Amino acid sequence: MARLTRFSELPLLPIEDPWFRCYRAAEGVTAIFEPFHFQEVISYLIEGSERCLLLDSGMGIGDMKHLVGQLTDKEVILCNSHSHFDHTGGNWQFGEARLLDVPECRALLEAGYSLPEEDENRSEEALRFTGERWFDLKSWSVRPCRVIPIHEGDLFDLGDRTLRVIATPGHAQDAIMLADDTRRQLFTGDTVYPAPLYAQLEGSRPEVYAATVSGLAEKYREYTLFCSHNDPIWEGAALCEISEAFSRILSGRETGSYEGSHTVYRFDGFSVIL
Ligand SMILES: [Zn+2]
Repeated sequence: MARLTRFSELPLLPIEDPWFRCYRAAEGVTAIFEPFHFQEVISYLIEGSERCLLLDSGMGIGDMKHLVGQLTDKEVILCNSHSHFDHTGGNWQFGEARLLDVPECRALLEAGYSLPEEDENRSEEALRFTGERWFDLKSWSVRPCRVIPIHEGDLFDLGDRTLRVIATPGHAQDAIMLADDTRRQLFTGDTVYPAPLYAQLEGSRPEVYAATVSGLAEKYREYTLFCSHNDPIWEGAALCEISEAFSRILSGRETGSYEGSHTVYRFDGFSVIL
C-alpha cells in the first residue's frame, strides 16, 4: 500500500486559531486543516518567493482570511480545487477565486448557495467542536464570490515556484489538480485522497473518474500527493492503486456492498462510492 503521512507526523505551527490547525507539509507548503467537522477538509497555502497560492478557502466556518494573514505578508491568489461547499466556503473573504472554466459551476459560486436544511453537514453530529461558538450551521452558506475561469495547462507563477493546472474531472466536473513539476508535488483536491472517494455525487461520472485517474497514474506516480481530506500526504503510487480499483469496479471484477442509495467498494487505504 502507498505510504501515507498523517498530521501527527508533521510539525504543528504555533498559530492560535479556534478552528484551523496549520502544519508544515513541505518547504513552503502549509496544510490548513479543519479537524472539528467530520469532513476534515484540508486547504493548502503554497508559498513562492513573490506570491502565494491558496488552494481552497475551506468550509467558511473559520476565518481563513485572518489565518492566512498570520501565515504570510505576500499577495495571495485563491484557487479552488472545485466548487464543492467544503472548499469554497471562505471564498467571499478574498473577493475573487479561480475555478476551472465550467459555466454552471462558475454560476453556482458567483450566486452563492447553501446545503438543504436537513443535510448531514449541518447537523450537530457533524461537529466535534466543544469551544465557544461564533458560527451557526443553520444559517451557514457559501456566500457569493467573483470567479475567474482557469484552464488546463494554465500556470501560476509564484516567483521561484510554478504551479500548473491539470483538469481532473470525475468526482466533480470542475475538479483540478495543481502540479509543481520541479518539486514533483501534486495537489490533488478531492479526486485522490486516502478515504472514501465520492463518485456518486451529482456531477460525478465514474467512467470519467476512471479515465482521469488512469492518466494521472501514468504521469505522476513518482510525485508526492497533497490531498484535500483526512490525511495530508500520500505516495504517488496510490494513483496506480486507485486506477486499478476503478478498472476492477467498472469491469465487474469487484463486489461492493450496497448501502442505502449507493454501493461502497473497499480497498486497502481507501474506498470508492458509486
Ligand atoms: Zn468535493
